Amino acid sequence: MQLYLCEKPAQAKDIAKVLGVKQRGQGFLFGSGITVTWAIGHLLEVAAPEHYGEQFGPPWRMEVMPVLPVQWQWSVKKETAGQFAVVQQLLKQADEVIIATDADREGEVIARELLEYCHFTGPVRRLWLSALDETHKATTYPRTDCGYLPMSMQADIPVVLTALVRTDPAMTAVISQLDRQLVSRVWNDTKITAHHAIIPTRHAFDISRLTTDELKVYQLIRQHYLAQFLPTQETDVTEVTLDIGGPLFRVKGRVNVMTGWKALFTDEAGEHGKEEGKEADLPLPALNQGDRCQVIEAKIQASHTKPPAPFTEGTLIAAMKNAAGLVSDPQLKQILRESAGLGTEATRAGILDTLFKRRLIERKKKAIHATPLAQELIAGLPTVLTDPGMTALWEQSLEDIAQGKASLAVFMQKQAQWLLHLVGRGKTQPLHLTLPKTPACPNCGGRMRQRQGKTSPFWGCVNYPACKGMLNDKAVTQSRKARRANQKV
Ligand SMILES: [Zn+2]
Repeated sequence: MQLYLCEKPAQAKDIAKVLGVKQRGQGFLFGSGITVTWAIGHLLEVAAPEHYGEQFGPPWRMEVMPVLPVQWQWSVKKETAGQFAVVQQLLKQADEVIIATDADREGEVIARELLEYCHFTGPVRRLWLSALDETHKATTYPRTDCGYLPMSMQADIPVVLTALVRTDPAMTAVISQLDRQLVSRVWNDTKITAHHAIIPTRHAFDISRLTTDELKVYQLIRQHYLAQFLPTQETDVTEVTLDIGGPLFRVKGRVNVMTGWKALFTDEAGEHGKEEGKEADLPLPALNQGDRCQVIEAKIQASHTKPPAPFTEGTLIAAMKNAAGLVSDPQLKQILRESAGLGTEATRAGILDTLFKRRLIERKKKAIHATPLAQELIAGLPTVLTDPGMTALWEQSLEDIAQGKASLAVFMQKQAQWLLHLVGRGKTQPLHLTLPKTPACPNCGGRMRQRQGKTSPFWGCVNYPACKGMLNDKAVTQSRKARRANQKV
């Protein structure tokens, strides 16, 4: 049996449709000689410290840190153990596995860790694909942040443009002006990630069926695709420095030479003009070096500098993506720019969720603030750990390993040495953390930690499993309210 291993159920459904596999099993789809199954993200996770020996906890103890396994081990994730059992069973029956997870680093790991954990030794092949069911869609695969197109898709240009005109005849004039031979910088095979940039498909469709919002998104995607076939915009910028009684005053003027691709973005340009000040777009009068001008009017404006606005969820995610802006080392800046910053498109929102759960960030209306706990933690950690540049260094190492320029064993060995050094230093250096108030354990009086139960959060003793003290979340909030009420009296 040929087993297709997908990353998530929706992907498996799409692939099964293409393969003509229609019968449903529990956790898989099957047809003649082919079975399609799926993970639900990672079905495995790195084993907890206690997995390597009782001495490692819980509770975690400083003396035995750091935990440096000789052989890293995996555990089955509890939440998706059912699907793991399905995959494990199917791998036993499979003659060949075709990895059909997303074609990126994460997708590859999701599949490879399963094959390794289940000791699959048969032949393995890789399926690379993008935009399976584009036939029914106006645009190609949407869940991507890639802004590039593979050279091979240049062959589709005439078909896509014809489809655009058939979909929306109003585009005829614009499309007739395009230079189809123009090769802009978006055509770049080396920049293609799991997917390519979002563009209109090769198929015409009924544009009247789009909702207002859908139409706006579609028009934006179409606009950016068409812009690739228009020349670059050219502007002459002149700058004049005027000496008015000593202080120097500067003014810039712009003259549009060639509108190029900007012609497609006229509305947007208008809005930008308003934001940046209209003067910038006005041409300057003809002047010569050393000319004298007359000062007609002078005004003094009083204003204050403003602190930077606090992050919102949206701007924080954007800042993670553009982390290069937060690093001063030019080399690390470049790496961060290429690797697209901290986290990935798929993981950034989840990272914020974890920070909320750990009470390191909190919401104040729309703004996100670091809690005092987070500020103490950052202050207590060595700068090297809190600098986004560290991510860049690790990204570079991973890239070197992928290209065979460095060895994984050497990288891991260096990491272990470095970790030993950091933990050693941390042990001698006091860390002051003001922990949020927590209830005392009703059994042993120890600290309690909030945990996620099946339906609602609860408080469990940190000495679990030695102590099984527990409180439900409601009881804690109620007793707090009662205490506060008593204090008021
Ligand atoms: Zn206890």
